Amino acid sequence: MYIEDTIAAISTPQGEGGIGIVRVSGSLAEAIGLRLFRFCTGAAFASHFLHYGAVVAPDDDAVLDEAMAVLMRAPRSYTREDVLELHCHGGMLVVERVLTAVLACGARLAEPGEFSRRAFVNGRIDLVQAEAVMDVIAAKTEASLALAQRQRAGALSERIETIRRALTRSLAFVEASIDFPEDDIGETDTVALRSGVSDALDDIGGLLAGFDEGRILREGISVLIVGKPNAGKSSLLNRLLKENRAIVTHVPGTTRDIIEETVNLGGLAVRLLDTAGIRHTDDVVEREGINRALGKIPLADLVLFVLDSARPFSDEDRLILDAVQGKTTIVVLNKSDLPPVIDLPPTVGEMPRVALSAGTGTGIDDLREAIRTTFLHGSALDSREFVAISRVRHRDALASARSALHRFLSGLGEGRELETLAIDLRDALSAVGQVTGETTTDDILDVVFSSFCIGK
Ligand code: GDP
Repeated sequence: MYIEDTIAAISTPQGEGGIGIVRVSGSLAEAIGLRLFRFCTGAAFASHFLHYGAVVAPDDDAVLDEAMAVLMRAPRSYTREDVLELHCHGGMLVVERVLTAVLACGARLAEPGEFSRRAFVNGRIDLVQAEAVMDVIAAKTEASLALAQRQRAGALSERIETIRRALTRSLAFVEASIDFPEDDIGETDTVALRSGVSDALDDIGGLLAGFDEGRILREGISVLIVGKPNAGKSSLLNRLLKENRAIVTHVPGTTRDIIEETVNLGGLAVRLLDTAGIRHTDDVVEREGINRALGKIPLADLVLFVLDSARPFSDEDRLILDAVQGKTTIVVLNKSDLPPVIDLPPTVGEMPRVALSAGTGTGIDDLREAIRTTFLHGSALDSREFVAISRVRHRDALASARSALHRFLSGLGEGRELETLAIDLRDALSAVGQVTGETTTDDILDVVFSSFCIGK
């Protein structure tokens, strides 16, 4: 029933632009096109051809805009349904009027991600690929884009499919043995079963091991700059913003007094949590200002602890050092252009250190490299082959598959009955299938697709 409606949405960003596109998907798409589009030549759609003409109002045929229209007949479309696109001028009002006309002809407004959901439901893409479509749209660095494109093209799905096939074979074997109890599982069969499942476990383990890097590539990392007043925090922030031309976002953070700026640092999307608002609050004494900045530490994946290397290590520095114990921290010895004075206490321990000058820019590359190696242990960024799971949803599903397979292997070793062993394998298969959406429930799909944008 859900599939029977025809849905429509504005697929281009809100605002003014050269072109605005209204996308329509469903059985009414062609009829709506024929009702609203006045062809310059001809009177019918040739599938996958762009036609020139005008969009008119459904009630009085008044021209709403000069436009181009394309109809992609099922199943050769993104959703595998008939899809109509009306390309008009990219103004908020004109695109909205065209959308209103489409809705008046019987379409309903699409929910976020609903086009992709239909592509998934109709079997054009699996769930990992649908998520990857959103990741392609949201990608902020070359590396995150490359990973998303590989997932979209099916590289991760293929790995999952290999695991599924292996487990399906094992399950079929166990089930056949249940059906023919007179043929006991012999020694050779046990060895074959064990090795098939162990291979699948290795593959799952490999994907789980890549999760941190996959997630970091997809989401980037959040970095908090802390240090006593005048250590050079603002200078460092400005230097990082200035030297990394790809400032991709400037969004207010989750709390009122934090601003996030995303920069592309050596291929890693780095969200700099700027506590400027805290520092510049006049009625807060400096110590209190530091305390409040320290309160933000849990929000960050990485702390850059900025020290003025031209001054002795102070009580304020110690306060901060105590607060960052146990946190992933890089010690930034700023003002390296001045004669060094600072003597670091032993509690700095193994924390990576980078000497640099936020003032002159010397050493910024070393900081960039230190951030990279802290988070990307392998050479993931440089590898065109790197395929990884990148969402908590993927990780949880694979982790539960892994537990089920461990149960299976120990059961097999203990000679437990085949019915129980089959249950473990079915659990594992179902968990693996959740990644690609094979066995995903509707409420999980709701959650996944509701994070998509409208019109995609
Ligand atoms: P914040 O209070 O920690 O944000 O520190 P600022 O970035 O405002 O810097 C404090 C002072 O140190 C300013 O006068 C800066 O010009 C100066 N400063 C910052 N970085 C450097 C540096 O690398 N070398 C030198 N010589 N001065 C610096």
